[in-house]
Amino acid sequence: MVPLLARRALLAAALGLAGRRRLPRHHAPAAARPSSGAGGEPEAEGSNRATALLRHLLLKLRATGPVTVAEYMREALTNPGQGYYTHRGAIGETGDFVTSPEISQVFGERIGIWYISEWMATGKPKAFQLVELGPGRGTLIDDILRVFNQLASLLSKCDVSIHLVEVSPKLSETQALMLTGGKVQSNPEDTSAYMKGVSKTGIPIFWYRDIQDVPPGYSFYLAHEFFDALPIHKFQRTEKGWREVLVDIDPEVPDQLRFVLSPSSTPATENFIQPEETRDHVEVCPEAGVIIQRLACRIEKDGGAALVADYGHDGTKTDTFRGFQNHKLHDVLRAPGTADLTADVDFSYLRKMAQGRTATLGPIKQQEFLKNMGIDLRLQVLLQNSPDTATHEQLLHSYDMLMNPKKMGDCFNFFALLPHHRLVHPDKKHKPESLPPVAGFGELLLK
Ligand code: SAH
Repeated sequence: MVPLLARRALLAAALGLAGRRRLPRHHAPAAARPSSGAGGEPEAEGSNRATALLRHLLLKLRATGPVTVAEYMREALTNPGQGYYTHRGAIGETGDFVTSPEISQVFGERIGIWYISEWMATGKPKAFQLVELGPGRGTLIDDILRVFNQLASLLSKCDVSIHLVEVSPKLSETQALMLTGGKVQSNPEDTSAYMKGVSKTGIPIFWYRDIQDVPPGYSFYLAHEFFDALPIHKFQRTEKGWREVLVDIDPEVPDQLRFVLSPSSTPATENFIQPEETRDHVEVCPEAGVIIQRLACRIEKDGGAALVADYGHDGTKTDTFRGFQNHKLHDVLRAPGTADLTADVDFSYLRKMAQGRTATLGPIKQQEFLKNMGIDLRLQVLLQNSPDTATHEQLLHSYDMLMNPKKMGDCFNFFALLPHHRLVHPDKKHKPESLPPVAGFGELLLK
């Protein structure tokens, strides 16, 4: 079990009694991005870039014929010249979509406490790496680092380092500014870390393009709204069997794209559709499967844990592919490169891809996870200490965005990969109760 003194420090941090408190970041905007549906807003800005990427895609389609939705999505999001994340990546109130860490610092603090709690539950290893996939503006890791700093006495003998996996040069610059004040060394020639720096609190930070470049070792992994940005394949059941949905040029309208069905089955239909499938339309994200396999292998070998938070389902939803621009739904085939494209994460697929190498927990709803992590107590402390009614209102408004089942509370989920021995004692004689509970996924560790 977690020693009493350490638990007290953790409890104090959970309530916000330790360290400096910051005010909420800003008013949460009207819309986060999870809801799906028809729509599409005409867009004016960014059309030059869209034209360039669209021209590139039209050339490619004319030369090779239709491409898979996965290939289209990869180009639209991460094309090195004109992809959405590589060049726009507008996250936050003034951008295209907002994420939980951008709404309130309380979110990242709960996650920081989750990692410390797991580190303590596994006997406080002498070193750990915190690896974030797709860190966006760097806000979440900044909030986590503040918690680590508040708990400096607990972590004083632990060698902590931060490893960020980010493909976007634009967003990695934003992250460097947020986390280090811009004091970084870039080395694009380096085949592993393309940038290095030290956080404002003195912790080394490294940037990579691929999870495979992160050095091995006991690591905690974090993927918040990362898996939904990875390319999906789409499949449609027809009278002749399963067909893959492809993207092609619309012959009726110049320079416009449309969806078509493959004339016969494709290697992807053969590989990704299960014989027992009951849905008529299915989305599969093989890249997510590969990354989960890598995380599961690393956790099995070197220890640690992974926390995945995203909107998604457990193998039940059908057509969730959608685009966002300026907080509004955007036609996925219009002006590629100017809008965020996303699809719900299939947690049942992630669980399957862990292939028993690790145990999995969840998915559980964001509101349950945050409640279990003590968000209500933290809100009370912030309200008691807040100086004015405007701050009170901001705190309550951002709490409502994160927790309200109709906003982000129900559609966002938390899912974890943990070594088997974390949940079941290797010596079978030990009762499961002898292991500390995993914070957030069940009874409160911090109560
Ligand atoms: N986690 C952040 C940002 C989510 S947006 C938040 O919650 O606010 C998705 C992030 O993943 C961006 O940083 C984007 O540049 C990055 N990303 C998208 N595809 C990626 C890939 N294939 N490899 C690494 N990073 C990727």
